[in-house]
Formats: sequence, C-alpha cells, structure tokens
Amino acid sequence: MQAETITKPAVLILLGPPGAGKGTQARMLEEKFGLVQLSTGDLLRAAVAAGTEAGKAAKAVMEAGGLVSDDIVIAILRDRLAEPDCARGVILDGFPRTTVQAEALDKLLSENCQKVNAAISLDVEDAEMVARIAGRYTCANCGEGYHDQFKQPKVEGVCDRCGGTAFSRRADDNAETVASRLAAYHEQTAPLIDYYQRQGVLKRLNAMGQIDEIARGLEGIVGEAMR
Ligand SMILES: [Zn+2]
Repeated sequence: MQAETITKPAVLILLGPPGAGKGTQARMLEEKFGLVQLSTGDLLRAAVAAGTEAGKAAKAVMEAGGLVSDDIVIAILRDRLAEPDCARGVILDGFPRTTVQAEALDKLLSENCQKVNAAISLDVEDAEMVARIAGRYTCANCGEGYHDQFKQPKVEGVCDRCGGTAFSRRADDNAETVASRLAAYHEQTAPLIDYYQRQGVLKRLNAMGQIDEIARGLEGIVGEAMR
C-alpha cells in the first residue's frame, strides 16, 4: 500500500490591478483546485459576524472609524486558515499590501510550517488597459456592455439586445482615472513584487490575453506551486 503524502495547504497570493480580471481568475482557481479565495474585506466581515475575539477587536476599530491594524488582520487570518474548507489551500486577494504585512504573513505561516507557495502577478500593459477600460459603456436600459473600439452596437446608437438608445459610462472609467489607478497600483505593489522575487516565489503572467488563455497560464503556475 502506498503511503499518502500529507501536503500543507497551499498559500497563493494574487496580485493584479483593477480590471486585470483577478476575480474571474480566482473563481476559476477555486473550482479547479478546491482553493478558497480570501479577500480582506470578506475576512473582516465574516470575523465580525462570527463574533470571534479578533472579530470583536476589528468591529470596535471600524465602528470608531479607524483602520484595522495588521495584528488584527493577521489574527483573523490565523483563525480562518484553520477552518476545514481551507485544507487544500487559499488564494489571498488584497492582503498583503505592504512588505510589513508580507513579513507578518510569513511569520504566521511559519507557525504552521507553511509558506507562500507562489505570488502571482497578473501583468498588464498600462496604455492598453487604459484603452480597454476607458472605452467601456453600457446600455442604460438592459445593461449590455459595449466598447468604443472593441464592441460597437451593430446599428450605431441602438442596443443590439433591447433596442434601447440611451447609454451610460461609469464616471471613474475615464482615461485619466484609470491611468492614475494603475500608477497607484504599481507604486503600492512594487515593493511586494521585489519581496516575493527575493523569496523566489514570484510568478509573472501576462494578463492582456484572452480570459481562457490567462486561465491556462494560471492553472500551470498553480498546479506547479501545489506540487
Ligand atoms: Zn439594451
């Protein structure tokens, strides 16, 4: 009889700017590998709702209008990682955001002889991202999505789906806002990229291709990291 190897839950970090499709890809990884996506907001809300010690501490800070400290987030994460659904592994989304948080995470994981298996950066071309996002608009009636360059209605000014003639654009989808969002992302993330690069766990993936193409690339990286 062959002995089964007991593997530690995998810890993956997904880095990518808004618009890079992180949410879609994380859901794919959840399904494919039985992983659980943990975003900071969800973690905090769940801990507050469950009324754990750390959750109570977080609630007090949030009610006072403060920012929840790294210590509290780490305590919440410690509780969450111990839950049975995380046995195969987790995808962290939105945490860590700083190298101080990354160090705290490493320390937490080392308590359990775990480590970050891979930090995956979804890389984008800024100029192209700006064009993609800034060109988006939707039918005001049915919500069908369009794009100035990539998906115009068949009849100009008329929605393909419902025949509506009113369209709307999100105020924060203009080129300037998107460009500054990307700049802020790069500034914030560069130290983390360096940090994980030094640890030898940084994986870069071009996130400008087709969704299923990116998914295949991710599957390869995650499959490897979980071995
Ligand atoms: Zn419509």
